[in-house]
Order: sequence, then structure tokens, then C-alpha cells
Amino acid sequence: MIHELRDLTEEQFAIVATARAFADEHVRPFSAQWDRDSHFEPSLIKKLGDLGFLGMLLPVEYDGLGLEAKSYLLALEEIAAADASVAVMMSVHNSLPTQMLNAFGTEAQKRRFLAPMARGELLGAFALSESDAGSDASAIRCQARREGDDWIVDGTKAWVTSGTHAGVVIAMIRTDTPDDRRRSKGISAFILTPDLPGFTVAKKEDKMGLRASPTVQLVFDGMRVPGDRMIGVEGQGFIYAMQSLEHGRLGIAAQSVGIARAAFEAARDHASERKQFGQPIAEFQGIQFKLADMATRLSAARALLHMTAAAKDRGVLVPGEVSMCKLFASEMAMWITTQAIQVFGGYGYVKEYPVERYFRDAKVTEIYEGTSEVQRIIIGRAVSKE
Ligand SMILES: Cc1cc2nc3c(=O)[nH]c(=O)nc-3n(C[C@H](O)[C@H](O)[C@H](O)COP(=O)(O)OP(=O)(O)OC[C@H]3O[C@@H](n4cnc5c(N)ncnc54)[C@H](O)[C@@H]3O)c2cc1C
Repeated sequence: MIHELRDLTEEQFAIVATARAFADEHVRPFSAQWDRDSHFEPSLIKKLGDLGFLGMLLPVEYDGLGLEAKSYLLALEEIAAADASVAVMMSVHNSLPTQMLNAFGTEAQKRRFLAPMARGELLGAFALSESDAGSDASAIRCQARREGDDWIVDGTKAWVTSGTHAGVVIAMIRTDTPDDRRRSKGISAFILTPDLPGFTVAKKEDKMGLRASPTVQLVFDGMRVPGDRMIGVEGQGFIYAMQSLEHGRLGIAAQSVGIARAAFEAARDHASERKQFGQPIAEFQGIQFKLADMATRLSAARALLHMTAAAKDRGVLVPGEVSMCKLFASEMAMWITTQAIQVFGGYGYVKEYPVERYFRDAKVTEIYEGTSEVQRIIIGRAVSKE
């Protein structure tokens, strides 16, 4: 569809073209195999870094591109349309650890960690969830206690995207004490690196989709963390994490738009090639209506995403807006990928064609960075206060 490119600035158009060319050369031809093998391709980190795609939102002084949100989300859509696993690596890195460091890190932390992250020399991960603390993330139990200038950390983080290859993990860890529990105000953010003694990458999840994105547990066993690795103010880590998730949820919405676009385009092309009853199935109104509904919902999600991104850049976001965007885009992606399988018929149900992968990849967008139910809670609260 042409209108997706209609209102872009010259710079945005160039970013889309660069991302599309990169995806065509380095990602799309390998996606099916990486999915089959659950293979994360580490060379992509440097390649994306060389393009500037791992520092898109970061200031130029830290080797970022200093772009506005829409440009970043356009690039992310292109990568997601080729491979949602690569897109989640890019989204987490650009939205969560780097944004938190940029907003709340010290100058020394930014020079040491942020600039190499922007260049693609260090991949970022974000460790908030635990096995018993998902939607209720303030219930985390991973615990730090002071020892001189250092912190000693024990506990296990769950579901850490890119955890196998991350050079920097921003982890939310309790710094309150067992006899003075403060829920969300007892959590601090730390910069962890895999070289810290007591840091172990543990179980890798065997997932339904996003199989080329490694999702792991991280175990901290008496891990000694230097005091200068804390980000910002003690006890503010949960608030920082929630603020970073505003970027993160826009990233997941862009990922959803990318997956849905790939599924729509595959269905549209299949419908014009596949013949039944002596004619292309695209000529049946039943199929045309499906394609019409898919195209309409896809355009609506993208428009909502770009509108929300512009509001974020101008600093005029209203509560609930980012959640609306994430909720609508992720449910749209699940619906479109389901329709795409229907348009493919039996061929949609086998691994020879990509739509079953799009369907498996789409599902998680309704779960991570806040489930659809959690987004509805946030939106519901926001609209009832208006
Ligand atoms: C592939 C993948 C990658 C991930 N990557 C990361 C990562 O990099 N970093 C990270 O920190 N986390 C990550 N996560 C974790 C993710 O954010 C959590 O899975 C998510 O927040 C949901 O938590 P949960 O799985 O514990 O589900 P639960 O919180 O147990 O929820 C189960 C169900 O109950 C519903 N529910 C819960 N509370 C309510 C309520 N109050 N009202 C109504 N319904 C409710 C939920 O919506 C859901 O349907 C990842 C998860 C996956 C699957």
C-alpha cells in the first residue's frame, strides 16, 4: 500500500529504504531457517550497529543518531516484516536499557556503556520479570544487600530477551530490606555485565514463536556489583522501568505492524496466484472482504502508532495513549495473521510458507511488555479519570 510511505520526510524515506535493503539482504533470506534452528545470528548486532540502528533514539554525543520516534519505529517495522525475532532484539535494545541509561545514567555510565551500545559493540537487555512476578512486576524478589561500597545480589530473573548475548543487562533488583518492605519503592536499577562474579545465563526457553530470539533466565548467586553500577536514585528503579516501557510498548506496536504487514502481503499475493473453481481466489468477494479488512486494520494501527510517536516526541502524551497503541496493534497483528492462514488454506498450516511463523510470532505481542489485560487496566483507569 502506497500511503504508508506517503507522508514521510526525505530523511524518514531514506531510513525506510535503508532498513528495507538491510532486511532484504541480511535478514529475510535466512528467517525461516533461523526459526527452524532457534538460531540467534550474532553478526546482526555489529551490522545493525554499523547502520546506527542500535542507537537510533540516542543523542549524537553518545554516538546515537538522535532521531525522533517515528523514524525509529519505521525502521523497526521494516525489520519486523522480515523477522520478528530480530525486531525484538532491536526494540528491547533501543527502547529499554539504552533509554533508561540515557535518561537516568551518570555521565561516566553513559560514556562507559551507552556509547558502545549505540555503536553495536554491546547489546542491551532488560531484566524486570521473575517467575512469580510478571504482570505484578513490583512483586519481584531478586535481592541486593550492601557490603561496603558494593552490592551482593541473589535471585533469578526470568524471560530475559537477548540474555545470551547481552553485554549490558539493566536489572531491577530489591534494595529494601526484609524488615522494611516498600513494594515498588524498594526496587533499584543496576547495570549488570556478564563478567560479574556470580552472574550466570541459565535456562533458555523453548518458545512457540520468536524462536530466533533467545529468551533466558539469569541466575545471580552472591553476585558482587560495584556501587557505581546503580542507575539514578536508590528505590526509583521501578519508576524508571515503567517510564522506559513507554518506549518499549511503542516498539512492540511497531513490531506488530511489521508482522501484520508481512502476513497481509503474503495473503494478498497468494490470493492472486491460487486458483480454485477456475479463477484466482482473490476474485471471490469472500476473500476480497478479508483482504479489505486486513488492510484497513493494518493502516489504522500504523496511523495510531505514528500519531502516538509524534505526541511522545512533542512531550504531550496523555495517560493510556501508549497502551492503546500497543493493545490495538498487537491484537490487530494476531487477527491479521489468523486471517492470513485462512487465505492460504491448508498451505497456511505448514512450514513451507511463512504465514504460520507470522502467526506464532504475533501471539507474544499480546503478552510481553504488559499483556492485553494489563493495557486495558491502564487505559480503563485513564479514561475513567477523564
Ligand atoms: C518471549 C518473551 C520475552 C520476554 N522478554 C522479557 C524481557 O526482556 N524482560 C522482562 O523483564 N520480561 C520479559 N518477558 C516477560 C513478560 O513481560 C511477561 O511474560 C508478561 O509481563 C506477563 O507476565 P506473566 O507471564 O508472568 O503472566 P501473568 O502475570 O501470570 O499473567 C497470566 C494471565 O493473567 C492475566 N492477569 C494478570 N493480572 C491481571 C489483572 N490484574 N487483571 C486481569 N488479568 C490479569 C494476564 O493478563 C495473563 O492473561 C518476556 C516474555 C516472553 C514470553
